Amino acid sequence: MNSLKISNSLTRSKDLFKPINPKNITMYVCGPTVYADPHVGNARSLIAFDLLYRVLIKLYGQKNITYVRNITDVDDKIIETSKTKGIPIDKITSNVLKNFHRNTKDLNCLEPTSEPKATDHIKEMIEMINSLIKKKLAYINNGHVYFLISEFKNYGKLSNKQLDDLISGSRVEISKLKKNPLDFILWKPALADEPGWDSPWGRGRPGWHLECSVMSEKYLGKIFDIHGGGLDLLFPHHENEIAQSCANNSSDILANYWVHNGFLNMNKEKMSKSLGNIETISEALDKYNGQVIRLALLSAHYKQPLDWSDNLLEQSKATLEKWYELYDDVESEIDNSEIFSCLLDDLNTPKYFAKLHELYNVASKGDKIRRIEFNNACRLIGIFNQKKDVLVRQKQDASNVDKKYILQKIEERIKARKTGNFKLADRIREELSKNGIVIKDKDNKTEWEYK
Ligand code: AMP
Ligand code: ZN
Repeated sequence: MNSLKISNSLTRSKDLFKPINPKNITMYVCGPTVYADPHVGNARSLIAFDLLYRVLIKLYGQKNITYVRNITDVDDKIIETSKTKGIPIDKITSNVLKNFHRNTKDLNCLEPTSEPKATDHIKEMIEMINSLIKKKLAYINNGHVYFLISEFKNYGKLSNKQLDDLISGSRVEISKLKKNPLDFILWKPALADEPGWDSPWGRGRPGWHLECSVMSEKYLGKIFDIHGGGLDLLFPHHENEIAQSCANNSSDILANYWVHNGFLNMNKEKMSKSLGNIETISEALDKYNGQVIRLALLSAHYKQPLDWSDNLLEQSKATLEKWYELYDDVESEIDNSEIFSCLLDDLNTPKYFAKLHELYNVASKGDKIRRIEFNNACRLIGIFNQKKDVLVRQKQDASNVDKKYILQKIEERIKARKTGNFKLADRIREELSKNGIVIKDKDNKTEWEYK
């Protein structure tokens, strides 16, 4: 069988993937915090791990893989959003989750085997905290429970940092209640108007890191194959997951392979809600087909940073439209192992795309076998999931919207000129020009054309 190599943050090298049990490959990926509609940065992570899942399926068969992606539905950010917007928490989380599911479908991501929610596992989280307290790996202070990192000798192993560097170099929550600044919260008290659960330490809620330790163990076991997430989760989230689980289980390992995707940037900075430089997946889907977005997000290697831009999307759109010229409705078994080997090399999508272009060129000259291989290779990365006429129809719809918008703008400009508002008239002309449309006034009429 072909073997997969994958970059492992734990060993800091590209490792040969050796599953614990090839009949049950286990993968856990940190899922969304459902307080705001997911943005295309989140989509990058979703698609990177969807690709890994597809490669594993091809190697081992879908029935032999358990892929768990959690839903964080209790969190400070959710409570804050509820308070500022005056919307009940359940309503926020259920709405965002609905949109998240719609988005993942539009991006053609396969459903994970299970998608556990944090709020469905509070009992197990309380049990785990109790166990850590009993083993003197956690302490209670004023309704709070903290993990005692001094009791875990491997702390910092994943992020490859000394404790002092971690304290000075990261956003570590300062609190007088802690023994060590790096001790992290397992349980915290809830205010009267906040969601809370009864516990031996009073009414409260769990810390974020705990849910992933509890749910990965419940669904995958104490040690599993792959743990994934964006690079921002490596520290402290993943380091803390390892600390809690390994300390509690007296084990050295939580997952054998830790895989992290790089950031999607916008204006040279990580796309994130807190910076405000986001485009939601739904906003992007209003302008582009899900396959175009998927292709754009796969265009760089998953570990590398990627800039989100109109140019990137337009290029992906043009590529997809070109590739669709060779789209065939029928699926076939014929495969091209040379192209698949690019994915086996740490999901090297840029190389895969280069080979796809070559395959396209040969296939477009009439090579039937190559054409089948090309179709299969597109399907393997999650494109070509819609029939050709769906794509063509969407293109026509989009150009009708364009025309409606252009005519409306021209109308507005005529009115502005009639009322002597030439500034506004000029602004409308500029706006149209920016969108690639030139207008000409001729014989009391305004004509337009694409640049
Ligand atoms: P969150 O909902 O913020 O917990 O994030 C869900 C997933 O998206 C996590 O794996 C994050 O690491 C990932 N993520 C968030 N922002 C970005 C970004 N700009 N680029 C790539 N991945 C991201
Ligand atoms: Zn997690």
